[in-house]
Amino acid sequence: MKILCIGRNYAEHIAELNNETPDEPVIFTKPETALLQRGMPFFYPDFSTDIHHEIELVLRVSKNGKNIDPKFAHTYFDAIGLGIDFTARDLQSKAKAKGLPWDLAKGFDGSAPLSPTFKPVAEFADLANINFHLEVNGEVKQRGNSGMMLHNFAAQIAYISRFITLKMGDLIFTGTPSGVGPVKIGDQLTGYLEDEKVLELAVK
Ligand code: MG
Repeated sequence: MKILCIGRNYAEHIAELNNETPDEPVIFTKPETALLQRGMPFFYPDFSTDIHHEIELVLRVSKNGKNIDPKFAHTYFDAIGLGIDFTARDLQSKAKAKGLPWDLAKGFDGSAPLSPTFKPVAEFADLANINFHLEVNGEVKQRGNSGMMLHNFAAQIAYISRFITLKMGDLIFTGTPSGVGPVKIGDQLTGYLEDEKVLELAVK
């Protein structure tokens, strides 16, 4: 399986990092070894001093597809969960300044914690109106709604599949809303999908 991620998909997050709004989705990947599942803690790595949380809705791809038409894209994922796109912002800033790839800043071990449970798509009343938020030590840091995405789920799937074949079991991180910020050892991160607590993560 592979992890595909969308960057710069919420206007307020683009503004907070002083990035340009892209015409087309910004796509990057994380390796399978980035996954952090089943309540495992996140161990703060020694190569960064500025790891940021980015809470994101995550799609679970349910069948293989290439050149997927946007109008059929909704049939290619069957469940939605929460994930954190941990980012070594210091490494990413260096890479961006030099025009170099983000792989190490985004794809390091443990950089993709996932909620243990994903909710079936059928349980959502409206895919364009899904609320989610992240608390750090009980304080709300990020709030998002899928309706605020610049490129919706269908557009993301159509775009990615022009270049990269989607396979059953792949995950798509759909971008983070504003409020990203650093985590530190001892933090407790809690992710909510609508009002349901689905993700709990300790930083060690
Ligand atoms: Mg992200």
